Amino acid sequence: MTSGIRFDRVSVAYDGTTVLDALDLTVEPGEVMALLGPSGSGKTTALRAVAGFVRPASGRVFIGDRDVTDLPPHRRGIGMVVQQYALFPHLRVEDNVAFGLKARKVARSEIRGRVAEALEMTGMASYARRHPRELSGGQQQRVAIARALAIRPGVLLLDEPLSALDAQLRSGMLAELARLHRELPDVSILYVTHDQVEALTLADRIAVMDRARLRDCGTPRELYRAPRTEFTASFVGNANLLPVTVGPGTVSLAGTELKVDTADA
Ligand code: ADP
Repeated sequence: MTSGIRFDRVSVAYDGTTVLDALDLTVEPGEVMALLGPSGSGKTTALRAVAGFVRPASGRVFIGDRDVTDLPPHRRGIGMVVQQYALFPHLRVEDNVAFGLKARKVARSEIRGRVAEALEMTGMASYARRHPRELSGGQQQRVAIARALAIRPGVLLLDEPLSALDAQLRSGMLAELARLHRELPDVSILYVTHDQVEALTLADRIAVMDRARLRDCGTPRELYRAPRTEFTASFVGNANLLPVTVGPGTVSLAGTELKVDTADA
């Protein structure tokens, strides 16, 4: 399924305060768009507007050609992963991954195959019978990603998916996400983060948010070389962070080589 995302002047207000102000942004099919900005700038709100968990005060949200603004979350063809895995503790890994499929009334015969496929993709096949408490944080997050992938979403919404993990796990998971992106070239990804390195490593383009508004949008190279606003310049600031590809599957960030692919590098 190929579906981009389009925000058409989307505004969201809580108790009369605008927290997302007329957002215009398009994520192309198969593109990774990072929403980057400080805490409270409206990133999660934008993502939740795509997911259907918050209703815009005005504006429309499109997934592919469909105006989804009035659709409930489960009819939008999205998979979502949040910071705190949010697995059901009493369900085995395989049942956590199957949950969304059962809710969508996918045939039982098909569920098995889809669960196996999603666990395979995330390297969790051998943990299918475990419970979440028997897994590390990184493994739990892999299961959460498998659960999102099992519904074969056209759009994957990732909200700070790595921020609960320690530094070493984070760089491993960044590599995993980069690999998944290559294995799923049709899936559009909206990736909320306040972490520049994550945005630079994964994103085709970065949308910079500040105080409810989109301040800038472009490829990492464009933003770092030629920021269009003072905010971007000060927020992304350090041009040394510009990633340089040094070989298949590796990028260099500020002189540190970071492996982004372990599978076929
Ligand atoms: P970010 O993801 O960039 O940290 P958020 O989108 O979570 O920002 O929040 C933007 C603003 O909206 C913040 O000021 C936050 O306090 C406020 N906000 C978010 N969710 C709610 C809510 N459910 N009720 C009231 N205010 C909220």
